Amino acid sequence: MLTLGCHLSASNGYLSMGKEAVSIGANTFQFFTRNPRGFKVKALDIADCEAFNEYWAAHDGGKIVAHAPYTLNACSADPKIRELAHMIMSDDLDRLEHIGGVYYNFHPGSHVKQGVEIGTDYIVQLLNDIIKPEQNTIVLLETMAGKGSEIGRTFEELRAIIDRVELSEKLGVCLDTCHIFDGGYDIVNDADGVMEQFDKVIGLDRLYAVHLNDSKNTLGCHKDRHELIGKGGIGVQALVSFISRSEIKKLPIVLETPNDIAGYKEEIAMLRAACE
Ligand code: FE
Ligand code: FE
Ligand code: ZN
Repeated sequence: MLTLGCHLSASNGYLSMGKEAVSIGANTFQFFTRNPRGFKVKALDIADCEAFNEYWAAHDGGKIVAHAPYTLNACSADPKIRELAHMIMSDDLDRLEHIGGVYYNFHPGSHVKQGVEIGTDYIVQLLNDIIKPEQNTIVLLETMAGKGSEIGRTFEELRAIIDRVELSEKLGVCLDTCHIFDGGYDIVNDADGVMEQFDKVIGLDRLYAVHLNDSKNTLGCHKDRHELIGKGGIGVQALVSFISRSEIKKLPIVLETPNDIAGYKEEIAMLRAACE
């Protein structure tokens, strides 16, 4: 069975997300660790974490994905903004240690005219600061569409980060199908070639999770606008065959399509049926 789910609202806590996931046929899910705008976060409710861990294990839940606020920029030219990313990501990692089986996904950041090399230096510095040898959580770099000056638009840009992180055994990649398609990787006509390249450049052993999205745009547009499965430029056939691949189907797969809960439930059911 696929480990398949969707993005959920974290506003009512972990146990509530676990129950919502189960109610829509999901055995994984993703959530934002805090409000992406104000960065506010509630005091950690240990009882809720424990109740979730127990509930999730009892329902055969798979690994889940915590997503850092996408408004953070670990490679900003402004030291205050870099410091904020440092503070928030480090606090997120502390809190996530109370949850069993969670990955922490983040967008590497935008270098904004500083160039990829300086941006990469800042991201590496941040990761070397916040990743601790004793942590259980694996930190994931998300593959990006290359909108503006986003770092992570190619597999090589992610590799350049991984190579310089000391505790790189705690570091992996989350592949977003909309982002890599918008980034120019043709998973419609040449998924074999794309995944060969991923393996050669990054290594399949670094791939921990998948964001499954169709794209409102075309191959290589560097836009990053998600679309419902089957309504976009990638299409349902290519997405189903992508998640049926042996190296993908064993990973947690999370939908981030523009949907409400009922829509997610339908997409999950449709994809499960198509992959059986
Ligand atoms: Fe993301
Ligand atoms: Fe994503
Ligand atoms: Zn996106």
